[in-house]
Amino acid sequence: MKMPSLNMQILLGAIFGVLVGWYFHGLGAEHQMVQSGLYASGLVGTLFIDLLKMILIPLVFCSIAVGIANLRQHSQMHRVWVTTLVFFAITTTIAITLGLVASNYFKPGSGLQIAMFADAIQSFEAQQLPLPEFFAQFLHSLFMNPFTALAKGDVMAVVVFALILGIALVVGGDRYKNLLNILQELLELTMRIVGWVMVLAPFGIAALLIKLVATQDIAMLGTLAKFITVVVGTTLLHGIVILPLLLYLITGKTPLWFWRGAREALITAFATSSSSATLPVTMRCTTQHLHVKPEIAGFVVPIGATVNMDGTALYEAAAALFIANLVGVDLSLTQQMIVFVTAMIAAIGAPGIPSAGMVTMVMVLQSVGLPAEAIAILLPIDRLLDTLRTTVNVQGDMIGSLVVQRLANKTA
Ligand code: ASP
Repeated sequence: MKMPSLNMQILLGAIFGVLVGWYFHGLGAEHQMVQSGLYASGLVGTLFIDLLKMILIPLVFCSIAVGIANLRQHSQMHRVWVTTLVFFAITTTIAITLGLVASNYFKPGSGLQIAMFADAIQSFEAQQLPLPEFFAQFLHSLFMNPFTALAKGDVMAVVVFALILGIALVVGGDRYKNLLNILQELLELTMRIVGWVMVLAPFGIAALLIKLVATQDIAMLGTLAKFITVVVGTTLLHGIVILPLLLYLITGKTPLWFWRGAREALITAFATSSSSATLPVTMRCTTQHLHVKPEIAGFVVPIGATVNMDGTALYEAAAALFIANLVGVDLSLTQQMIVFVTAMIAAIGAPGIPSAGMVTMVMVLQSVGLPAEAIAILLPIDRLLDTLRTTVNVQGDMIGSLVVQRLANKTA
């Protein structure tokens, strides 16, 4: 019998994970089988993420340095750079607008009272993160001894150093071609290893989803159903309509074509809730299935994974309005503009790890004087919503590289 393709195996793994997780949920956490099942899925899921993280840093480092160095050869660097940033800014703006408009229209949270969540709030201590401090911290984290950044796995600092090294390689020219060759070979090797890790993806994804679904707090989901519906609805609208439409209008590629090439990465993002852990898979899909040139993907995708987060931006804006409704505050237009700007900064600053958006959310709430403790209400449902917003975050990066490839070539 012929084995199903890897794509098919990943999809089947995801469906299996959700079904088994649901079954475990029905049996209850006390059940012996559920306990061993959750232990095993915890082990397998973590192993899969560890393997992705193992390859992540060498991959980011080489792909950006090589990407920049090769772009210069096509004298495209400036165009690619500008198009990438403009595309990211436009799509994030659309995402936040969607979140704000839908929240103003449907007013999730207006029927609820914050007192209902007193228990959750009491046991929560918010980290103070005022905007200026957040900004200072963000800037400070950009520049780091590269060896520390590599060893700590700090993606943002590695991106920045690799950018600088790439530019130095360009400026230095032929004199450094040996180093460039080595980096290029290292990049090819890391992509080969990513291919091996992907063989485990169906199991890793099934394990992660079993754990996620089995440990959901259904009562909380019911209470917050309206908010969840608004967030899920707008995130899907952005991911299924807006981004594919932009892709179609600019490149002529259909949504089905995109889904076929991108699904490995989208499903991995859904299961891991981490753009960073998914990055090796995103790179693989973008270069191998969606046929974006490595020098463009090598630049757009890693940068996108750290700064371009449409799903997170939309969520931060919608959640701020939800909490305002909950505490009975009517945010004025100016205040909503402040939410808009801080949600954008929060999404750029959030690292691509699970629930990162929750940490930067504090800043958005504080910018308009909302109580940061209210985050305690959102925490129990965050892992669930994180799945979808991370998927859209990763989708934005892949569509971004297709768009950039098209526009940068067009004007070449
Ligand atoms: N988990 C998201 C990501 O990795 C970030 C967030 O929490 O919104 O893209």
